[in-house]
Amino acid sequence: MPALTGYDPAALEAYLASEGQPAFRAGQVLDWIWKKKAASVEAMSNLPAALREKLAAAFRLHALEHTTTQGSGDTTRKFLFKLHDGRYVESVLIPANPALYGERSDRRTLCVSSQVGCAYGCKFCASGLAGFSRNLDAAEIAGQVLMAERLSGERVDNLVFMGMGEPLANLENLLAAVSIITSPWGLHLGARHLTISTSGLVPQIRQLAEHPQQIRLAISLHGATDEVRGQIMPVNKKWGTAELFDALDYWNSRKKQHLTLEYILIEGVNDHLEQARILANHARRLKAKVNLIPYNTVEGLDWKRPSENQCRAFRDILKNAGVSATLRLEKGHDIDAACGQLRLKQETEEGIIEAPMKVR
Ligand code: SAH
Ligand code: SF4
Repeated sequence: MPALTGYDPAALEAYLASEGQPAFRAGQVLDWIWKKKAASVEAMSNLPAALREKLAAAFRLHALEHTTTQGSGDTTRKFLFKLHDGRYVESVLIPANPALYGERSDRRTLCVSSQVGCAYGCKFCASGLAGFSRNLDAAEIAGQVLMAERLSGERVDNLVFMGMGEPLANLENLLAAVSIITSPWGLHLGARHLTISTSGLVPQIRQLAEHPQQIRLAISLHGATDEVRGQIMPVNKKWGTAELFDALDYWNSRKKQHLTLEYILIEGVNDHLEQARILANHARRLKAKVNLIPYNTVEGLDWKRPSENQCRAFRDILKNAGVSATLRLEKGHDIDAACGQLRLKQETEEGIIEAPMKVR
């Protein structure tokens, strides 16, 4: 059974017309789903009872079933969702101002998954550990936002496609979800509040540069040279840094928003200060911000974050070169980036995937 959350007005009107229903019913149904956040089709009280029965028999309302939540209140919360085929994905809700001193956080960012597993196999990442299983469809991607809003009772202000999976390897479903998320009839979130993160799929970066909406782009760089990047990111063998930076120049020629370069700091792997100098040159030329992320330990992997002093020294080289660079050292954010670990644990326990055996 398809999920209603994957339908846009045209698709829903077509279905309703085939059932002899007027087109305006589509707007009513979508309003119940995305605005009133109905818990069931039965709850859609301005629809005729016969239509509600028909919809309930032909569709699931939601594509996701909430399984567990880690964290609570005004802190970072991780939601685990079960999919119709028994697989799992997770989304992470991050308050912008964690209420450390008792005040409420005022903005919330949701980190969304785009695939079950990931085919790109970056050596440091939990999402790629058990390989790739399948793409999420539009209802499963957009549904994460709807579920997070329903579960938290709060509005999501920002979306980052930085959960499990490589969003640009699932571009068609991703853009269908973006359309639902940004549409006035859907979640009506501005495209400028959406950031897609990619490990560097060059053809898709160029394709996305032509997209009419002002979506933001973040690049998982993690190495400033082919030598360093190639050691930890197999994708760099297909599209090296020169090709990647060409594609980013092209992006800049088409888009107004500044790029973000993400750079995980891993001790002894990519934290050499020479990398910071090279990174600074690239970032300056691309007018990109750099987001430095001290590595979050992943169970089963041997990588470590560098000392705080080393992280600061790395950042200072960027800053002194005139690059806008952020570095978050607090441990409290550990839950943020380590997306993929919750589903890995759940699916391993259920025997859906084998316990990944991977050492550095
Ligand atoms: N596949 C896309 C989006 C998902 S990964 C991409 O790679 O960009 C989102 C971000 O989390 C990436 O920058 C990724 O490199 C980073 N990441 C993965 N594992 C991490 C870890 N253990 N600690 C910190 N960041 C991690
Ligand atoms: Fe996939 Fe991104 Fe993880 Fe690399 S960092 S394995 S591309 S999810």
